[in-house]
Amino acid sequence: MADNIADLILGGDPGAHLLQEASAFDITLTKIRCAACNTVSCLGALAVDGGHREALVKCADCGSELMRATRTQKGCVLELHSARHLYL
Ligand SMILES: [Zn+2]
Repeated sequence: MADNIADLILGGDPGAHLLQEASAFDITLTKIRCAACNTVSCLGALAVDGGHREALVKCADCGSELMRATRTQKGCVLELHSARHLYL
């Protein structure tokens, strides 16, 4: 018998659990590696441009667009443009 609803939904699949663990994090504490210049930055320390419908994060070192979050009618879309890795 499953201990919680996540176990029921994920069916005990270790890969699904890893994906769940990788997506349950505080994004402001995440470090991000720029694919263009290889700089690793704390995401919470980077400037965020935009407003209520869109947020854009650029590499502080080279200015490449690392991440863009867009609010749509169907939900939020997160695009990782020049981000090589996220360290959770
Ligand atoms: Zn960069």
